[in-house]
Amino acid sequence: MKEIILAYQGEMTLKGLNRSKFEARLAKSIRYRLEDLGKFKVTQAQSTVFIEPLEDDLDMDEAFRRISKIFGIVKMSRAACCSKDFDEICATAEAYLGETLHGIRTFKVEAKRADKTFPMKSPELCRELGAYLLGKHPHLRVNVHEPQLEIMVEIRDKGAYIHGPKVEAAGGLPVGTSGRALNLLSGGIDSPVAAYCMARRGLALHHIHFASPPYTSLRAKLKVRALARELAEYTGNCQLFVVPYTKPQEYIRDNAPDVLFTVLMRRSMLRIAKLVADQSEMEALITGESLAQVASQTMQAIACTDAAQNLPILRPLIGMDKTEIIAISRKIGTFDTSIEPYEDCCTIFTPPHPKTKPSLAEIEAAEAGMPGLAELERIAAETVEKIPIRIGDDPEF
Ligand code: ATP
Ligand code: MG
Repeated sequence: MKEIILAYQGEMTLKGLNRSKFEARLAKSIRYRLEDLGKFKVTQAQSTVFIEPLEDDLDMDEAFRRISKIFGIVKMSRAACCSKDFDEICATAEAYLGETLHGIRTFKVEAKRADKTFPMKSPELCRELGAYLLGKHPHLRVNVHEPQLEIMVEIRDKGAYIHGPKVEAAGGLPVGTSGRALNLLSGGIDSPVAAYCMARRGLALHHIHFASPPYTSLRAKLKVRALARELAEYTGNCQLFVVPYTKPQEYIRDNAPDVLFTVLMRRSMLRIAKLVADQSEMEALITGESLAQVASQTMQAIACTDAAQNLPILRPLIGMDKTEIIAISRKIGTFDTSIEPYEDCCTIFTPPHPKTKPSLAEIEAAEAGMPGLAELERIAAETVEKIPIRIGDDPEF
């Protein structure tokens, strides 16, 4: 009996002419993710990706787990496949699910006949296969409303596929089909979630992190690298740009009003991010800001931050509560790393009472008093450290 993985494509089926581009991306991601597990054949038909092992003893659990993190797939199942012959379908269903049926009391059969040349219509196929399985397991009852196991038979062009319930997959759009962006990655809870949300919408992204040694430690930088690695299963391979930010930050501290420090620093970070984004043709910046979460995330502060440079800033968490953000963080597996207690450059030098409603005019006046800042920002962008992040790298090392 041959087992394969079926991955059902999501909303990209709606995308008209772009569909083939989307499908090609998705297949490429799947092939890449399975490469080191052994030989698989990946084909697409009828909005489904068929992932077929070509060797014995391939790790199907791991293949399934990896594919469940690839954006563009809404549901998945493992299935036994056989030829489109009723007797063979019965025998395959029994061989594949017989043991499970042994341990439960109720089931139902659902059929989907995509290949209309198959001689039995769906209701007949359900009925007959159900009768066959009841014959093999007389303790069973059919329950169409709340069965303990729903058995699905799909009659497709190339064969028949028998499986249990489909499971939820990652959803979204294949990474790389919506453009490229640079994610501002701190060591906190929010920005990894922001990266996940935007990658899920099909963005290919890199990360940028601002480090201010000796105020921030090597451990803090390693923590951010670990987060980028944890995200890689979703985002794919990428770069982590680490900006040496100490000099611009000290300059702002020494030359501008205390109460404006945070907004001035955030504008400066975004200008540097734009310089780095331009070097690698990235079309937008991403942050983990959420409205009113902290003093730098009021409407007025956000307006001042937006005006610092001209790339669009994507803020996927802007309307989310912390509890919602934490739930996603736990789901994607970044939470435990995020809560490790290392300092971030955003939390050093912060004044006790930052101005929550700064005006752009006063911010620009403060910047006019810092003539050396642009040059320090340029140098910071030019001396950025590039750390390659590859899927499968161990986050610990
Ligand atoms: P997070 O949990 O992502 O750190 P936060 O709630 O702590 O967010 P802030 O510290 O105000 O909020 O940062 C807002 C956003 O600015 C972050 O989500 C992140 O995108 C960006 N950011 C903050 N610090 C850094 C940093 N050191 N390097 C890169 N980006 C940063
Ligand atoms: Mg933070």
